[in-house]
Amino acid sequence: MNKQNKRVLILGGGTAGWITANLMATHWADKGFEITLVESPDIGIIGVGEGSTPPLKGFMDVIGVKESEWMPECNATYKVGITFKDWSVKPGFSEYVHPFLAQPDEFTAPAFFHNSFLRRKGIDLEGHPDHFFLATELIRQKLAPIVPEHFPFEIAYGYHFDSGLLGKFLARVAERKGVRYKTATVTETLLDAQGNIDCLKTAEGETLKADLYVDCSGFRGQLIQQALGVPFKSCAESLFNDSAVVFATEQEADYAPHTISTALKYGWAWKIPLTNRNGNGYVYSSKFVDDDMAETEFRAHLGLLDSDVEARRLKFKVGRVEQHWAKNCLAVGLSQGFIEPLEATALDMVQETVTRFIESYNNGNYTDQYRQEFNDRISARFDAVRDYIVCHYRISSRTDTDYWIANGTNEKISPSLRSILMSWMAGKNITDELLAQKLDVYFPNVSWNCLLTGKGIYPTQEQLRPGNELANQYKTSEIREFIRRCALNFNPHLQQLASLRSQ
Ligand SMILES: Cc1cc2nc3c(=O)[nH]c(=O)nc-3n(C[C@H](O)[C@H](O)[C@H](O)COP(=O)(O)OP(=O)(O)OC[C@H]3O[C@@H](n4cnc5c(N)ncnc54)[C@H](O)[C@@H]3O)c2cc1C
Repeated sequence: MNKQNKRVLILGGGTAGWITANLMATHWADKGFEITLVESPDIGIIGVGEGSTPPLKGFMDVIGVKESEWMPECNATYKVGITFKDWSVKPGFSEYVHPFLAQPDEFTAPAFFHNSFLRRKGIDLEGHPDHFFLATELIRQKLAPIVPEHFPFEIAYGYHFDSGLLGKFLARVAERKGVRYKTATVTETLLDAQGNIDCLKTAEGETLKADLYVDCSGFRGQLIQQALGVPFKSCAESLFNDSAVVFATEQEADYAPHTISTALKYGWAWKIPLTNRNGNGYVYSSKFVDDDMAETEFRAHLGLLDSDVEARRLKFKVGRVEQHWAKNCLAVGLSQGFIEPLEATALDMVQETVTRFIESYNNGNYTDQYRQEFNDRISARFDAVRDYIVCHYRISSRTDTDYWIANGTNEKISPSLRSILMSWMAGKNITDELLAQKLDVYFPNVSWNCLLTGKGIYPTQEQLRPGNELANQYKTSEIREFIRRCALNFNPHLQQLASLRSQ
């Protein structure tokens, strides 16, 4: 490809397609690119994926959209972390929050690291993560993460939203930015003599031609996997879940800014609060339970056994393609891979893939000069997310079903995760190991520490001995008071959401 190669065809109008279209149209606004998004009128979008991580805010800022514009339209709420319930049966560790970080945490995190390090060495100190982070307090008090002017600290937060409405909203923004939209179903992909994509044939009888093709066609991977034959690297050996059943339930009178992830018998269930409903889904492994049994268990969990509310059932595959950018095709979204929804990382991966691609493409003067470097970087990110998610299952202390026993004893974990776990068990500081294994490229040290301590990966209570004064150098009562006072600066979640509607 050379400087003239600026016709871009995005195949797919799910969230990945529209995020891609917006980022490309924004970053290449004055560079003469011609961007067209093609979507099948017959093949729907997946229509799940309603929780984000903090970078989604950065995406909205980049494309120039205010919260007051998009959040009310997409029934969106704020998210400051994920509460994990019933993943551990260790006393005192049945629940913990994986928080998004806030600047004031810099004052309290040293105490968390200190205590959890010494607790692993057998000293009885407070080591549960919920005592150390502002986000946890915001969840407890149902407060929104919007900082007032008089509180000069930043706080990271994400969102919950209706994915169908978000797609529609982003489509309108992209069209305003000059992205062309076309409905057509691609049935055939023709390659040129070098193996690049030459053109796409549609069921409507058209031939579509571009210089760069972006595959956002979802799990089918129409271009990257089917046409170009890029191999898919499955991680099903270490992540057993492959199915989901999804229900909407009525919203409660008041709700906190968090996703709840509750471990059930054969997987886990999410609860995502939107302004008009709760989104609920049970992610499970069909190797251990059939779809009907899973749905019944989930209905019982939600109190819907006698309800005729309809469920949606989904299948998914976990893993990633070996190359995200191959020939003249970039894969984005489910076509490039999916780890599983536990930490809601998929849209972040979309954003990162497109942003890094634009950077590499620009730096290489619109050639594939930096393709290898780009592919290595995105694959490393996928693998780092995979390890973090696999760790949730591997360290769970549940043994109530074959599913949990198989997870807890699974030896098919990556060498990088194995070395982190060995380092933790040996009572070492895992910072160096995370760096060496490049596992901090997605989840930072503090996230790994929350995961391991939140699930109670410590010596048992009987093995602990009291600490001396040196060990007790942080007073948890003072930390709690500091966090309580910080939280005084925030408005109730519902009040903040209502104020967006009046802006
Ligand atoms: C159970 C589950 C829960 C999830 N939860 C989260 C979450 O909480 N947070 C998160 O970030 N992500 C989550 N995800 C992932 C998230 O849903 C996806 O990353 C996101 O929706 C993007 O999907 P997509 O755009 O890649 O694919 P899709 O939504 O499947 O869109 C595919 C598009 O391609 C088009 N298309 C396909 N083939 C053709 C063709 N031949 N011709 C023309 N058009 C075609 C379709 O019409 C459609 O527009 C979850 C996924 C699953 C399975």
